[in-house]
Amino acid sequence: MSVIDDFINLQIPSVIFKDDCGYCYETMYNDDFTTSHCLNVCLHCFQSFCPEHTTLHRRVTGAGSNGCHDFYLKLSKVKKADVGEPTEKKLKLEINEKSEDEVYDSYWSLIKGTSSIADNQTQGLDPKVTNKVKNILQARSSNFQQMANSWQLEVKACEHVKSFTVSAGAAQDVGKNCADCDLGNNLWLCLHCGHLGCGRQQVGIEGHSHALAHFQQHPDHPLAVKLGSLSQSSADVYCYACDDEVHFDDSKVWVQALAHWNIDIGDRVAQEKTLMELQLEQNMNWDFQMVDSQGHDLQHLPSSAEFGCGLLNLGNSCYMNSVLQVLVNGGVFTWSLKELGDFPADVVYVSSNLKCQLLKLRNAMTVEPAKYSQGVKPTTFKRCIGGRHEEFSSGRQQDALEFFSYFTNLLDKRVFNETSSNPNDLFRFNVQDRLECTKCHSVKYSSQSYDYLQVPLSENDEPQELSERISSYFAGEDVSFKCPYCKEMVTAVKSSGFQSFPKTLVVSPTRIKLVNWMPVKNSQEVLLPGIETADTSTLQLGAFKSHGFDSEKERLLPENETNEFKPNVQCVADLLEMGFTENAATKALFYTNNSGMEDAMNWLFSHVEDPDLNEPAVLPTNTYEAEMYNPQELEDMVSMGLDPQLCRKALILNQGNVTASVEWVFNNLDDDGLIVKETPVKKEDQMYGFSDESLANYSLKAVICHKGSSVQSGHYVAFIKKQVGEQTKWVLYNDEKMVVAEDPMNIQELKKNGYIYFFNRC
Ligand SMILES: [Zn+2]
Ligand SMILES: [Zn+2]
Ligand SMILES: [Zn+2]
Ligand SMILES: [Zn+2]
Ligand SMILES: [Zn+2]
Ligand SMILES: [Zn+2]
Repeated sequence: MSVIDDFINLQIPSVIFKDDCGYCYETMYNDDFTTSHCLNVCLHCFQSFCPEHTTLHRRVTGAGSNGCHDFYLKLSKVKKADVGEPTEKKLKLEINEKSEDEVYDSYWSLIKGTSSIADNQTQGLDPKVTNKVKNILQARSSNFQQMANSWQLEVKACEHVKSFTVSAGAAQDVGKNCADCDLGNNLWLCLHCGHLGCGRQQVGIEGHSHALAHFQQHPDHPLAVKLGSLSQSSADVYCYACDDEVHFDDSKVWVQALAHWNIDIGDRVAQEKTLMELQLEQNMNWDFQMVDSQGHDLQHLPSSAEFGCGLLNLGNSCYMNSVLQVLVNGGVFTWSLKELGDFPADVVYVSSNLKCQLLKLRNAMTVEPAKYSQGVKPTTFKRCIGGRHEEFSSGRQQDALEFFSYFTNLLDKRVFNETSSNPNDLFRFNVQDRLECTKCHSVKYSSQSYDYLQVPLSENDEPQELSERISSYFAGEDVSFKCPYCKEMVTAVKSSGFQSFPKTLVVSPTRIKLVNWMPVKNSQEVLLPGIETADTSTLQLGAFKSHGFDSEKERLLPENETNEFKPNVQCVADLLEMGFTENAATKALFYTNNSGMEDAMNWLFSHVEDPDLNEPAVLPTNTYEAEMYNPQELEDMVSMGLDPQLCRKALILNQGNVTASVEWVFNNLDDDGLIVKETPVKKEDQMYGFSDESLANYSLKAVICHKGSSVQSGHYVAFIKKQVGEQTKWVLYNDEKMVVAEDPMNIQELKKNGYIYFFNRC
């Protein structure tokens, strides 16, 4: 078979990595009417490479000797002269206002080894060749595929989809316009009768809801599909009866349902935005100040070695961009990816390899940022780190603090496990907890390592000092505790302090207050040293040092004593006799501390209305859990109608803080309630940082700010202090934009929207 036949017979996969080169951010797009930017799509592995890295790909795969990975489709897209669409818009969303073919001319050539077999100029080519090229050009890119997949998961089949049967009879053609108003786009096809009606009106999209009107006249025709966004990899199906987006689980039925209307999804290309894409646009409404108080644009900074380069938003990925900018641009002491060296010589599928995509991003941000004046689009990187993580692989907005933890822990396991030192250790530290029985004054110490400090703000709307909040975080609080010496429930004082200090302290104020038991984000001003760049005062943490066990003055409580509750056998028998269930009796004795029949009876009479009185008791089972919360607090939370298992977990995770626990339950209603003792921040027995408290002075280096009503929506940006000319100034990294942000309005935003602060040791 000839090389041309090989090409014609190629199986094209559903995902083609063609957004950029596997090793760098070079693309195939030319906005300057030249063909200088091009990518070679490897027709063996369907990854793309710039000319320089094609050489690397051939070397890594041994293409010269075995002939695999040696056949490429070279692609270049050149902007048409008469199209005035701004580039930025095109880069921001994958979806173009105009179809790509309207904006760009495509140039291609087929290359085997070092020789060109055919190109777009070749005369008399088999049309199958040009068709194949067209298929590759039109295949969804990895970016689109990734986002579309994750959103479709949330859409389910409804009863109408499940009971849907394809109409009998011969296939029919559908029209091209709305049956009622002649509109030619935003059209929905009734899957039951083939009626074509227009959709509702949306921002920038015309529509008169004639598809809905059709359902109102024919209530047995609930299912409709949007024609414009329909393709093999995307479909908007709406059920008017359920008033929701739905999805056909059974792809056979789906293909038949469309085939009945002579639609072959195999060769369809979406022309209009899907509902998912429209939703993404709406989430871009929150933004930060990009002009000064006089209305002038803030000073724009070029991509360069000093400032790095911007990161384009992939649709709700600003949480990731902000964390990356802070880590790579000096927010965390000497944190760097330098030690990782060059691309590994043994990885073929670089586009889905975490380390390779991390190196690709590192090179763009630190080695050759000037090459990317428009910023880069970390699509393949996000795909690699999101992996199978349900949240971070999705297109939804995420909590930047959770991402910081997730990402740095992923690097621990998959990347820094091979380096001689772990840059993440720069922000790690140990906290020592001290528990003292107020009756016998015996003490107990325990230690844990942390990646960051999370301090609750007080719930009033007053401006508050960060140092004061840290102080109250470490101050002692009373907890109930079963003292092994006193042999009873006693009040113990729990306090904590730094056992060691980090080079960079990461602090996050919890900006949540409860309004009618519902968590609401608030924007109190937080006062901290260094918010104004002229302010050189420091955050001093030496006073929060924990001094540890003093064998001369303190007596240690015995370790590891389990505290399984054993109800008084005689009392249980008596209560059973009186008609109470064993579960109810056990609970009564637990909450009254086995103090006798009278207390138990009183407890039972005041809880006789509890709906779960006879359910198995949820009791703390060991000292670790028992000391963390007061059983009465669990009882109080359960009486609010919350799930006991979730309440128990919440109290343990929040060290008995009821407000935080209630908030946790509301945020984790779908949690399984199982208690995994090893929480992500806990790393057994390892000591990080330094212990000399006289060195624990910190100055503010970077802040991740957030705007929006909850940390899972809205917009994130990063402010990092940088040397700009002669002075230290705040640089605002807002996705692909980098500006000097020294205006009073910027400072105000820093105070009100600070979500994660990075303090470096002086
Ligand atoms: Zn490259
Ligand atoms: Zn290849
Ligand atoms: Zn219409
Ligand atoms: Zn119909
Ligand atoms: Zn339905
Ligand atoms: Zn005691």
